[in-house]
Amino acid sequence: MQFIDLKSQYGRIERDVKARIEAVLNHGQFIMGPEIQELEERLAAFVGVRHCVGLSSGTDALLAAMMALEIGRGDEVVTTPFSFIATAEMIALLGARPVFVDIDPATYTLDPERLEDAITGRTRAIMPVSLYGQCADMDAINQVAEQHHLPVIEDAAQSFGASDRGRRSCSLSLIGCTSFFPAKPLGAYGDGGACFTDDDGLAARLREIRNHGQERRYHHPRLGLNGRLDTLQAAVLLAKLAVFPEEIDARARLGERYTQLFEERGAASSASGGSRVLTPFVPSEKLSVYAQYTIQVPNRDAVTAQLKDRGIPTAVHYPIPLNDQPVFHVGAGETKTPVSAAVAQRVISLPMHPYLAEDTQQGVVDAVVAATGLRAEKG
Ligand SMILES: *Cc1c(COP(=O)(O)O)cnc(C)c1O
Repeated sequence: MQFIDLKSQYGRIERDVKARIEAVLNHGQFIMGPEIQELEERLAAFVGVRHCVGLSSGTDALLAAMMALEIGRGDEVVTTPFSFIATAEMIALLGARPVFVDIDPATYTLDPERLEDAITGRTRAIMPVSLYGQCADMDAINQVAEQHHLPVIEDAAQSFGASDRGRRSCSLSLIGCTSFFPAKPLGAYGDGGACFTDDDGLAARLREIRNHGQERRYHHPRLGLNGRLDTLQAAVLLAKLAVFPEEIDARARLGERYTQLFEERGAASSASGGSRVLTPFVPSEKLSVYAQYTIQVPNRDAVTAQLKDRGIPTAVHYPIPLNDQPVFHVGAGETKTPVSAAVAQRVISLPMHPYLAEDTQQGVVDAVVAATGLRAEKG
């Protein structure tokens, strides 16, 4: 069994991928070829914003977004400690300080109720993460941000294709950043990423930043990056985009089916705050793309080992909150984030991709039930 099965998808899109790649090999414009603009136009329309700017990775998209907002030394950016390293890493790389606000225990995303307390005179932006495939509570976060005239950057690396009341992830704040890392909901066959915005000025700055701060050839009004999306990756993404809407539906359906199977066996939702097996909570107004199907279990090491024995791969997203990472560990005085610390001990992600067979899901659920004694506990 595979954690993420990219081969089944390739079987479906092989002809189109090969034709798209061959077109690039024939025209030879490997840097900023015509596929870049074609992809940017399609993705901007898909998300529902004016501008998409392709970048070399999700990490570079976050970096470029903050560079476009001129965030730097002495500034603070409020973010979540329960994420992949890139979010806080890029803040720190710019010389700014990541300020960690704890998460909502039901959705694992930045808790808007705790946001106000973290804002200081040095705060320059708020960067929530739309984790595991569902959008953070962007409306509530935007509301606090507006009161303080702060920009909001959505780290949407795990939520591309997700929506909130029909509005797509990456359109829910000033800038949305996503990743096309192969394992993400919309993945390339290498690294890639993009920024999305409705702001014309910001889009123009992002285009300069991804190309060494160049405004026109060999004229550099600002510092930038070698941060362009590869033409070959854009070609692959164009082929994958054709099946992406169907894959979004499949992801939502399969994620809900996992939850249903677990609930039939006595599991509770993470919104209930119980102590046994907790399934993901997705509020009714949101659609998750389940970049990860992540549950909480009381005995993670035993569950991991027993699933491994049955040939079922698992992963932990994430075992250590970012404020406990040595690179950010500034010692006494640092804000504590007890919710993140607690769930980091209990979360485990199960195999999830749009081509997951229903009997495979049943087998995974049976294995988790056996390893946690779920039914015995309930009865
Ligand atoms: C994957 C990921 C990134 C980084 O994306 P890359 O394309 O791998 O650089 C950033 N933030 C989150 C939350 C991610 O999951």
